[in-house]
Amino acid sequence: MELNTDVIVVGSGVGGSTAARELAKKGKKVIILEKGELCSPKQWGSEVLAFKFYDKYGLWSRSREGVFYYRTIMAGGTSIVSCGNGVRSLEKELKSLGIDLNNEFRQAEKELGVGPVPKRLIGPGTAAIMRSAQGLGVKMVPMPKLINFKKCIGCGNCVVGCRTGAKWTALDYLYQAQRLGATLMTGINVNRILSSRGVVTGVEGHNKLGTKVKIIAPVVILAAGGIGTPVILLNSGIKAGRKLFLDLFTVTFGITKNLGMSQELTMAAVNHDNKGFILSPFIDTPFALASVVPVPLRRNLKILTKRKDMLGIMVKINDDSRGSVSKDGKIGKKLTRGDLSKLKKGADISKKILIGAGAAPETIITTKVRGAHPGGTAAIGEVVDKNLQTKIKNLYVADGSVLPKSPGLPPIVTIVALAKRLAKRIK
Ligand SMILES: Cc1cc2nc3c(=O)[nH]c(=O)nc-3n(C[C@H](O)[C@H](O)[C@H](O)COP(=O)(O)OP(=O)(O)OC[C@H]3O[C@@H](n4cnc5c(N)ncnc54)[C@H](O)[C@@H]3O)c2cc1C
Repeated sequence: MELNTDVIVVGSGVGGSTAARELAKKGKKVIILEKGELCSPKQWGSEVLAFKFYDKYGLWSRSREGVFYYRTIMAGGTSIVSCGNGVRSLEKELKSLGIDLNNEFRQAEKELGVGPVPKRLIGPGTAAIMRSAQGLGVKMVPMPKLINFKKCIGCGNCVVGCRTGAKWTALDYLYQAQRLGATLMTGINVNRILSSRGVVTGVEGHNKLGTKVKIIAPVVILAAGGIGTPVILLNSGIKAGRKLFLDLFTVTFGITKNLGMSQELTMAAVNHDNKGFILSPFIDTPFALASVVPVPLRRNLKILTKRKDMLGIMVKINDDSRGSVSKDGKIGKKLTRGDLSKLKKGADISKKILIGAGAAPETIITTKVRGAHPGGTAAIGEVVDKNLQTKIKNLYVADGSVLPKSPGLPPIVTIVALAKRLAKRIK
């Protein structure tokens, strides 16, 4: 199969859908190539349904060294399972690289409906954590979210996909791009970039049946995410995939007598004291919990039966960019001393907060280390320039892989802002 278009966008997640919509608005003929499928909310909303979208079912996606990482392969990308947190990140760092995103941030926040969680959606478990934290001098404030609170029922199922449509996802932009004339082709795995004399000419990939697909275009935007994009670049002879970060996190939780947060809006509050980590009330879904609790299975199962009386706090750090993605998509990610020290500090504070909120000290456990924001693998200043262009002319990157360092914060708003800026600059 061979097709021609003005612009190819690879990946329909946060960066890809944003760029596609902005370019379709400008009247460009856009083809979006997406490896996963386009699904409806009926196909997610529970752990069993959502599992199949997570890379390796979210249970076996680990670095060679055993660090878990999460991403989804589907139209809309990983935004489908986000917690709906919407904050600016890396604003100063990007400015120092010559990228001022102030206008794009403002536009993104308006379109994504960013606002703090209202009181009504702060559940009793979260409120107890906030009070206990306050008593220890750790100020937690309502988290800014990309959520239409009128539609949010606070079910606590954000990470398996929002059924009510309250949470912003990249599908919102993707559908708008389609209405403006963009074409979405799903089930297409892009393998490599085509170029001639240092200028991009298109991409090559294959569909689910293994049939080769070739699309020709004068402009290509890669947005296959912090893991997908470096694989395509490496297979096209461009050095990428170093400096992987994941925004590592652990969750510390404990069992109370009768206070839980399993049916509360996740990450409804946040503490951000610039210590290199954030703290936010969170407990895992049951299967995820079973896979990351570092205790023997029998005790693990016992803990799971108490999930309704569980309180938990996520510690998310800005980790050292020392990981890597190789050509075959395998991840290398060791924990550095700095990473471990931040995670420990956060877990120690969390433990005190949880005890103050009513958790029994002997039940307190911290999960294994995970990451959910892969990036840095095609960083600005290393693989792309400040216009997000690679060394191949008219080949751009617009996703988490361009971020220069680990934000240690939710990156969606920043990726949207960067993709908007790129689309403005493409003639
Ligand atoms: C459980 C969870 C909760 C999160 N919560 C938040 C949150 O609350 N707030 C926040 O800001 N961030 C959150 N994140 C992180 C956020 O979702 C990601 O950082 C963001 O989606 C990254 O955007 P992206 O464009 O880089 O990649 P993605 O959104 O992952 O998009 C990449 C797209 O490329 C496609 N693709 C991959 N390879 C190929 C290929 N070879 N060919 C074609 N298509 C390909 C994928 O299927 C996907 O659609 C969360 C992540 C997880 C896992």
